[in-house]
Amino acid sequence: MSASPMMTQCPRCQQEQANLVGHQRALCTLCSKALRRVYQFCWSCRREWQGESNYCSLPWCGIRAALLSDAVNTDPESSVVGCPIFRACPSCKALLTHSGEGCPSIVCQQCHTGFCFRCLREECDGEFGFDDEIDDTEMDDDEDEDEDEDKDEEKDKDEEKDKAKEKDEEKDEENDKDEDKDEEEDEDEDEDEDEDEDEDEDEDRYYDFYGDYPIPCTIVDNSNTLKELN
Ligand SMILES: [Zn+2]
Ligand SMILES: [Zn+2]
Ligand SMILES: [Zn+2]
Ligand SMILES: [Zn+2]
Repeated sequence: MSASPMMTQCPRCQQEQANLVGHQRALCTLCSKALRRVYQFCWSCRREWQGESNYCSLPWCGIRAALLSDAVNTDPESSVVGCPIFRACPSCKALLTHSGEGCPSIVCQQCHTGFCFRCLREECDGEFGFDDEIDDTEMDDDEDEDEDEDKDEEKDKDEEKDKAKEKDEEKDEENDKDEDKDEEEDEDEDEDEDEDEDEDEDEDRYYDFYGDYPIPCTIVDNSNTLKELN
């Protein structure tokens, strides 16, 4: 028995009257009286205790505990600001975090399922295509994006430099062409920044795109995931 028992909120009656009686095991005297039996629950995963061990034997105990910790990403630079720090993979339930950089969608290291860290939907990325959509507005001719990305960017930069010169001379003409309009937008962004900061620019585009979120993707809390893990 602990000399000075710690108190916690009971998941059944919501009173702060439950005592820690084992390493993870907590006892609620109010619920025990009401139920006329000993009511114990896991301090970590907040489910009714099973078995006689002092250690929780329930599946997903650690993952549920992390999801219940409820901390939210407050980094203003993060693409998933406002999301809970921890998410369970919707497929295999592995516990995952987001680096905060780039696309809100992530791929589970364990089962390779892709899902959106904001809305937890597997189809959010696939249906709306964060990357594809951004690439479409950036570069119309970007087909070999993985292998040739750096080369393409260098080419584009050179093209954009040339176009920038042309632009000063032929601004009005270019405005009349749809294709050139898209490319001019890119030029304007590039000209505002140092030419050597391509990576930073790409991230800024993600954040800008993200800030103006045009697709139905809403940050959800972990409650649905917790229900799945009972
Ligand atoms: Zn209780
Ligand atoms: Zn537990
Ligand atoms: Zn997974
Ligand atoms: Zn989403």
